Amino acid sequence: MEEIKKDVGATKEKSLNFIEEIVENYIAETGNAIQTRFPPEPNGYLHIGHAKSICLNFGLAKRYGGKCNLRFDDTNPVKEDTEYVDSIKEDIKWLGWEWAEERYASDYFDQLYEWAKQLIIKGKAYVDDQTQEEIRTGRGTVTVPGTESPWRNRSVEENLDLFERMKNGEFPDGAKVLRAKIDMAHSNMLFRDPILYRIIHAHHHRTGDKWCIYPMYDYAHGQSDSIERITHSICTLEFDVHRPLYDWFINELEIFPSHQYEFARLNLTYTVMSKRKLLQLVKEGIVRGWDDPRMPTICALRRKGYTPAAVRAFAEKVGVAKRDNVIDLSLMEFCLREDLNKIAERRMAVVDPIKVVITNYPEDKTEYFTAINNPEDENAGTRQVPFSREIYIERGDFMENPPKKYYRLAPGTEVRLRYSYLIKCEEVIKDAEGNVVELRCSYDPESGQGSSSDGRRVKGVIHWVSAAHAAEAEVRLYDNLFAKENPDDVEEGKTFLDYLNPESMVVKTAFVEPSLAEAKVGDKFQFERVGYFCADYDHTTEKPVFNRTVGLRDSWSKIANKG
Ligand code: ATP
Ligand code: MG
Repeated sequence: MEEIKKDVGATKEKSLNFIEEIVENYIAETGNAIQTRFPPEPNGYLHIGHAKSICLNFGLAKRYGGKCNLRFDDTNPVKEDTEYVDSIKEDIKWLGWEWAEERYASDYFDQLYEWAKQLIIKGKAYVDDQTQEEIRTGRGTVTVPGTESPWRNRSVEENLDLFERMKNGEFPDGAKVLRAKIDMAHSNMLFRDPILYRIIHAHHHRTGDKWCIYPMYDYAHGQSDSIERITHSICTLEFDVHRPLYDWFINELEIFPSHQYEFARLNLTYTVMSKRKLLQLVKEGIVRGWDDPRMPTICALRRKGYTPAAVRAFAEKVGVAKRDNVIDLSLMEFCLREDLNKIAERRMAVVDPIKVVITNYPEDKTEYFTAINNPEDENAGTRQVPFSREIYIERGDFMENPPKKYYRLAPGTEVRLRYSYLIKCEEVIKDAEGNVVELRCSYDPESGQGSSSDGRRVKGVIHWVSAAHAAEAEVRLYDNLFAKENPDDVEEGKTFLDYLNPESMVVKTAFVEPSLAEAKVGDKFQFERVGYFCADYDHTTEKPVFNRTVGLRDSWSKIANKG
């Protein structure tokens, strides 16, 4: 308990968000621990928006010494699957959270059914035989009150009998529904006799064929919260109109008073987040799967090379808003760079190679230079990088006709090879079309291991790999999946798919330090001067494959500093 108090004090200093305020007031007033939950529907993979909700719910429980459950909101058997259940659990664990209990809304089907009977007995629910269409039109509009169903005044006995027969499978899908009996003229449309149960003869991933009636979200969610004694049921803003109905069920059933609080959902630039659209991208083969590194899903971020710490830091940084907003993707990348800079070992890799022959270096000689693995981490140690007569450098590090203040390689100028010699470009070899295909350089034998004996300093330092020792690697350079900042905002006659970025993945063959072939899947590196990379799931020692996780340039801090 001592520790919790300290933590509360610590958050106070950095000023509370509105949900933390609510929680602190609750603790001060009741002396009770809080209980939260994360309630995904297992009908798709989790995305970065869910990560925000996860960090919020689990984070609050942790910070305030409460508990957070993982509850699968599995009330729609048609769209749900255990594949999704498994991926959701994996993603939450990867993010670094532990749930107090793993629950399923389907665990509560018996209890929910009993409560529905209670509502019938109280005269607060009835079986309606109208078609879906009749029910829809009967609800009226915001300006026109609804009309009451001809079945609205059935007796309690008849309702109980019909409801039981619904459950027993006597009626086909759509033949009947159970509705709450509230007010067909209510200003909140959700109160116009909301549907509690519909008939769906479908196999459920957990309850199998036991049920053929399934509860609606509004009927199931609050009661599930109540069963788990959730004190703070946190959801996204679009549910604020549902809150009165959430409270209505809890009041009518006189059960544990859970309360709902809403915050703004996380939206990110240059991506879509709706599960329906993500599913479409997968199904139509526009991306290579749910974990294609261009997707905003958590499994895709993981594959791309994101770290859990970076995602958590991002969730913390975006905070909790009461109004919908769109967060710049570069903020997420900023959080990622901050973490990778600390943990990623440095390596040299040449992504767009040009060969350099060092003409005065012995043909059969190999020597090794000591390179620092991570200047941000003393314990990361050093490694030996082989050097020989032929090396690759980045095509972009040479210019035939350089402008003033160009400090990299150019005819007649000297440049430092990182951790190694100074070389000077003596000759430029071109093919028949005039493309530069090779550079002939000389080196200064006195200038090894990053320092020249005569104290000569050159401004340019470039990375390189020894041609004879380098491993060939496939590198996948990712960019935004969409070319439009908000692909959900579609012009007439178009769909979000019209805004795909054709350059979202560019595959190149790179030459990398030999040690990179030995990397394990998921290992993260900074390719010096190029970016952060991660060994992909397809990576093997024989055929190395790296994903570009994020570039080195940090556009966010520039934006932030300007502001
Ligand atoms: P979608 O509408 O894309 O299908 P969903 O909200 O229906 O997503 P759920 O599985 O029901 O997906 O969501 C589980 C929890 O995650 C809910 O509490 C929901 O409010 C929250 N959540 C979903 N998307 C976001 C988001 N973009 N930002 C913050 N929280 C989110
Ligand atoms: Mg939902």
